[in-house]
Amino acid sequence: KRPVAVVGAGIGGIAAAVRLAVAGHRVTVFEAQASFGGKMHQFDLPGGYRFDAGPSLFTLPALVDELFRLAGRRPEDYFRYERLDPITQYFFADGTRLTAWADEARFAAEIETKLGVPAAEVRRFLRSSGRAYNATAQTFLHKSLHRTQTYFSADTLRAMAVLPELGLLSTMHARHRRAFPQEPRLVQLFDRFATYNGSDPYQAPATLSLIPHLEHGLGAYYPEGGIYSIAQSLVRLAEELGVQFRYAEPVEEILTAGGRVTGIRTAQDVYDFGLVVSNADVMPTYRRLLPHQPAPERTLAQPRSSSALIFYWGMAREFPELGLHNIFFSADYQHEFEAIFQQHTVADDVTVYVNITSKKTPADAPPGHENWFVMVNVPHDQGQDWEALCRQTRAAVLRRLNQALGTDVAPLIRAERVWTPPGIAHDTSSFGGALYGSSSNTLLAAFLRHPNFSRQLEGLYFCGGSVHPGGGIPLCLLSAKIAADLINNS
Ligand code: FAD
Repeated sequence: KRPVAVVGAGIGGIAAAVRLAVAGHRVTVFEAQASFGGKMHQFDLPGGYRFDAGPSLFTLPALVDELFRLAGRRPEDYFRYERLDPITQYFFADGTRLTAWADEARFAAEIETKLGVPAAEVRRFLRSSGRAYNATAQTFLHKSLHRTQTYFSADTLRAMAVLPELGLLSTMHARHRRAFPQEPRLVQLFDRFATYNGSDPYQAPATLSLIPHLEHGLGAYYPEGGIYSIAQSLVRLAEELGVQFRYAEPVEEILTAGGRVTGIRTAQDVYDFGLVVSNADVMPTYRRLLPHQPAPERTLAQPRSSSALIFYWGMAREFPELGLHNIFFSADYQHEFEAIFQQHTVADDVTVYVNITSKKTPADAPPGHENWFVMVNVPHDQGQDWEALCRQTRAAVLRRLNQALGTDVAPLIRAERVWTPPGIAHDTSSFGGALYGSSSNTLLAAFLRHPNFSRQLEGLYFCGGSVHPGGGIPLCLLSAKIAADLINNS
C-alpha cells in the first residue's frame, strides 16, 4: 500500500482515486474548491432552476460502470442512465429542422426527407465513422502514446494502416465534403463533431470523423438527475473505498528531491507522498506547482482548444419543439471557426447550443418553466475584452433563437448567470479557460499532448483533459485508467 496524493477532484482525479484505492493504495485528494467536480459541477439560480455547469453530453457510460465493477459493486446501485432517442434537434439557418434519431436507419431516413441526401449514403458514412473508431480507439485512446511498447502492438499497426484507407489523412471538413458534395447542411452537421473536443473542423484531421460514431453508433446517454450525478456517484464510491477528500485545500507546490516526488505543500501543511497524480491542468501544474523544474515547453506551447461562453437562463415558458440537446446553426460555419481559431474572437452570427435538462429531470425547473444552458464556442482567453464579447454574443444568440423559434426569447428570461473563459480559468484552473486542454487541430496533436507520466520526475503522474488522451468525460476517465495502470505496474 503506497500513499498517493491526487491534485484536483475533477472527473479524472476522482476516477484515478477510485482506481488507485481499488488497487490498495491510500489515496488523498486535494481540491482547491469547496467541493468536487471541477468543470462538472452544478448550481441553482433563484426561482428554482438547477444547472449542470459544464458538460452536458454523455457518451461511453460503460467507462463509468467499469469503475463500480472494478470495486466489486453493481453500477446500478449508484448510477443510472438512459439512452437518448432522439439525440439532438437541429435548426439550420435556412429554417430547416431535423431530428437526429438514435436509430441509424431512422436518422438516415430523416436526412433523406429533410436534406435530400440518399439514406444509403448517410448510412455508408456512419459505418465508415464506426470503422475509423474501431480501428483507432484502442491505440489512440486506451494506451499511453508515450511508451514504446504501444508502437509494437498489432492494434497500433492496424490503426496506422487504416488511416489512408479511410481517407483519414485529410481534414475533417474535406472528408465530409467528399462524402456529401451536394449538401453543405449535412457537412455542417458532421463538422460540428470537431467541437466535441474543442477543435476546428477546417483544420482538424479526418480521424476526428470517428466522433459521430460515439453518438450515433454507441449512443448518447442521460444520467438520472443530470450530469453532476456522475461525479456524485463516483465520489460516494471513492469515499466507501477509503479515499480522503480535502476540500478548499489548494496544492501550492509539488515537492521534489533528487529527481523524484517527495510530497506536496498546501497553505495548511506539508505532506509526504512518493506518488502524486496531478488532475490540474498541465500548464499550472508546471508553472505554479513545479516552479523550479524544467517544463516541457514544446508540449505546453500546443494551441489550446476552444472555450465557451455559457448563458444559464431560467425560462418562464416551455418549448415543446425543443429537446434535451438543441443546435441552432449559423449561416457561415467557416467564418465562425476562422473567428475563433484565427482572429481569436467571436463571429457576429454564431451557432448556439441549448441544453435543457428539465426536459428529462422536471425538478430542474418550476412547472411550466425550463432551465436553458445556452452555449457558444469561443476562443480561449488571451486577454480579449470579454465584457464586450459577452454583450455582442448575447445579442447574436437572441437573434438566432428568436428567428428559429419565431418568438421573442429575452422577456422570458427570469434568472441569468454567465460563465466566460476567464471565469472557467478562475474556477477550474484550466489554462485560458480552454474546455479540452490543447486542441486536436493537427494529425500530430494526439502525440503532442502531455503524457500521463512525468519524463523528469519519478513518482509524478497526470490525468484529466489537458493530458493524453484528451478532454471530455470519456477521455478524462481513460486518462485516469492509463495513469493508474502506469502506477500499478511501476
Ligand atoms: P477538471 O474538471 O478540469 O477539474 C480539475 C480540478 O482540479 C478542479 O476541481 C480544480 O479546482 C482542481 N485544481 C486545480 N489546481 C489545483 C490545485 N493546485 N490544488 C488542488 N486542486 C486543484 N465534456 C463532455 O464529455 N461532454 C460535454 O458535453 C462537455 N461540455 C462541456 C461544456 C463546458 C462549458 C465545459 C467547461 C466543459 C465541457 N466538457 C464536456 C469537458 C469536460 O467537462 C472536461 O473535459 C472534464 O470535466 C474535465 O475533467 P478533468 O478531470 O480534466 O478536471
